[in-house]
Amino acid sequence: MTRIAILGAGISGLATAYHIKQLSPHAEIKIFEKNNRAGGIIESMMFQDNLFELGARGIRLLPKSKNILNLVKNLGLEDQLVYGNKKIKQRYIYHAGKLRKVPHKILAALFSPVTRHLVKCYFKKRDEQNTPQEESVHQFVSRHFNTKTADIIADALVSGLCAGDAKKVSIHALFPQLIQFQKQNPHLLKSLFKQRKNGLGLGQSGIVSFKQGLSCLTSTLAKTLHNELLLSSKIVRINQEKRGYGIYLADGSFYQADIVVSCLPANILNELTPQFPKEFQSGLAEFEYAPVAVVNLGFKKKSDQFNAFGYLVPHQEKQGILGVYRNDQTFPQFCPSLGTSLTVLIGGTRYQDFDAKNELFFCNEAVRHIQKHFKTKQVPDYQYVKVISKALPQYLLGHEQRVFKIKRFSPPHFFVRGNFIGGLGVSDIVNQSIITAKKIDNILSNDFIDSNVLNLFGTETILSA
Ligand SMILES: Cc1cc2nc3c(=O)[nH]c(=O)nc-3n(C[C@H](O)[C@H](O)[C@H](O)COP(=O)(O)OP(=O)(O)OC[C@H]3O[C@@H](n4cnc5c(N)ncnc54)[C@H](O)[C@@H]3O)c2cc1C
Repeated sequence: MTRIAILGAGISGLATAYHIKQLSPHAEIKIFEKNNRAGGIIESMMFQDNLFELGARGIRLLPKSKNILNLVKNLGLEDQLVYGNKKIKQRYIYHAGKLRKVPHKILAALFSPVTRHLVKCYFKKRDEQNTPQEESVHQFVSRHFNTKTADIIADALVSGLCAGDAKKVSIHALFPQLIQFQKQNPHLLKSLFKQRKNGLGLGQSGIVSFKQGLSCLTSTLAKTLHNELLLSSKIVRINQEKRGYGIYLADGSFYQADIVVSCLPANILNELTPQFPKEFQSGLAEFEYAPVAVVNLGFKKKSDQFNAFGYLVPHQEKQGILGVYRNDQTFPQFCPSLGTSLTVLIGGTRYQDFDAKNELFFCNEAVRHIQKHFKTKQVPDYQYVKVISKALPQYLLGHEQRVFKIKRFSPPHFFVRGNFIGGLGVSDIVNQSIITAKKIDNILSNDFIDSNVLNLFGTETILSA
């Protein structure tokens, strides 16, 4: 029987194990998770009768979310789904010291300080010959529109998506959709208007979660995989051995695997594989992560200051926060006994001395900003913070080459997966897990496990890539 080790029980590891089990029921699968709970970044918490998310908040309803919704159905969780309030579409951007609506109508966009620079670009002449091979989100938006739009809108979007720096993040890696739109029509604004008409524009999608929060998905996967899942099993080393791989655990035990799928963060996988090729290791070492403190604040009183999905804060505002979600507007069912429920995100790659700050500091910072932005002196009735020092991988310039290098130098039958490779969102991760399961099924169907192949570093990597 082929033994498959899945490393890490975040959504990447769980979804991969689930799909491998579906496609290859005869393989032996073991999932190694260092914590005593599965789910990784996804963690929902109840306080009295209110629900708070300490990591991811929901699944965006996009064309790419088909597979995750299928998974929800197959797990029997459809009746647990809760849809974000569709009426709450309004987003804000904190600009020039104030919360400003992101306008939906063209006329309003002409007069809004957030978008008026963007609208002017409709008639801008484009140099279609000189499209660079790769560029940062900031460069791309400056080229298509102007620097002001890049400083305000692109910067805020990158903060909201990955807590990163728009000048360093690759447009190709983080927003491949925009590159597609550009290919369809080099006049990007026209292309965006067209997508918007078709209901596929950026920021137009709905959001969905579960009655018990997003961790309902990971805890159900964990229950389904209870025979495969080994909690409190911290991996301390991964060795390539004569036949397959040795997964060494902190308690001194070890597991011999024929196939390994790592769903660990890049920095951790790097530490655990000192014996792997140098190029593989240097590829992993090049990945950067942004730190984030997720501060949940609950107020008994309802605020009518800003009734919206949330707001983002561009870096130039020097506020030190990335953005705020208004949970009581999007998912009112999650906070029956709170008037106002907010999640404040603090951190990002440009945040100074993040690791030197503690939970109390982040809570105080969040309250200070909310009091200022909401023009109130209210103190929260509830507050809870989760500090994640390596929260979000950065899809920096050169991302595709880095991923290629890791895949090229991965030993045979060693798959590197996780949110730093094929997309950050849970939908991307589930899509990736299906592709991985199909590749493994192909290997098993072709009876590909052969000790000679397993002894070679890097020669069959294109098959495992
Ligand atoms: C604040 C925040 C908000 C987000 N919001 C959204 C959102 O609304 N929607 C969305 O789609 N995405 C969102 N994301 C992104 C998404 O949540 C993550 O990309 C995804 O959950 C990562 O899953 P993963 O399995 O790749 O990694 P992780 O969840 O990090 O899982 C890795 C697992 O490996 C385990 N591990 C680590 N070291 C070892 C070891 N030595 N031995 C064994 N196990 C080990 C860890 O304990 C962990 O369980 C958000 C992310 C953050 C940080």
